[in-house]
Amino acid sequence: MKRRIHTAVIATVLTILISGAGCQTRDTSVTSSQPSSSASSVSDSSSENATDTTSTSEATPTPEYTPTPTLSPTPSPIPTPVPEYVEPIIEGGPVWYDGYVDPRTVRAEIVSNPEDIAVLVNKYYASPQSYVPELVYAKYSAGQQLRPEAAAAWEDMHDACMAEIGEDLYLISGYRDWGTQTYSFNNAITRRGLDKTCCKNAYPGRSEHPLGLALDINIRSDPEIRDNFINTKAGQWVLEHGHEYGFIWRYPAGYGMITGYGVEGWHFRYVGVDVATEMYEKGIMTLEEYYGKPQIVPTDYNE
Ligand SMILES: [Zn+2]
Repeated sequence: MKRRIHTAVIATVLTILISGAGCQTRDTSVTSSQPSSSASSVSDSSSENATDTTSTSEATPTPEYTPTPTLSPTPSPIPTPVPEYVEPIIEGGPVWYDGYVDPRTVRAEIVSNPEDIAVLVNKYYASPQSYVPELVYAKYSAGQQLRPEAAAAWEDMHDACMAEIGEDLYLISGYRDWGTQTYSFNNAITRRGLDKTCCKNAYPGRSEHPLGLALDINIRSDPEIRDNFINTKAGQWVLEHGHEYGFIWRYPAGYGMITGYGVEGWHFRYVGVDVATEMYEKGIMTLEEYYGKPQIVPTDYNE
């Protein structure tokens, strides 16, 4: 008698254990191919209907993890926040913060030649909002776009740098549309304050990035914007050889009063080999000086 009771208890425990394990297996892994009769034999005791329903609906396994392909990366889309253009506030004239003018307090001249690869765009010369350049996806980049001329030159410069010093240049940020630039500027004011924003961030239309000719770069193993990039082995190589491919270092240290921006050790501009080489050979450090148009307070706003 006792033995029969023990046997019955053991059988019951085994049934519970098996049904429990079966539920767990179906919950966490959808590969269970238990026949439905087995499921029904344990499901009539309690609230396992939900489990059964689930296991039925999960008959077709859904992979939870989709590996990202690395061999042929697809370019990530450029975010396009609300493209809201805010007219500059120019009442009262320019407002300066530590040598950097608030771009919203100066009226910019809209350039008529935004398609010119050597066009000057800064706080005083703005690209038209309607201008969108022809763009291609750039190699050696985080899915970034550039104008075709700049993309080809970038590829050549990258390959030369790799061949000569073994540094793998990487494009972090290329073309940015008007909406992205607007978002970036407004976000910077919130994040770092107006004075630093005026030093480092471009107001919509006053940025070179919507031209498709500006490149924020580093090396592939450190794909972040770094002040110090210009001082690295790769940065020094670009500084010395960039002009051979049409690039200039756009915001050198100590030229903020001329360019309107503080030093940016990562930002380069494609201007074409002719202009870049002429600047290099003549020792002209900024595009403003090349055109004889250093950052100035417009005469309208002289005190
Ligand atoms: Zn930049």
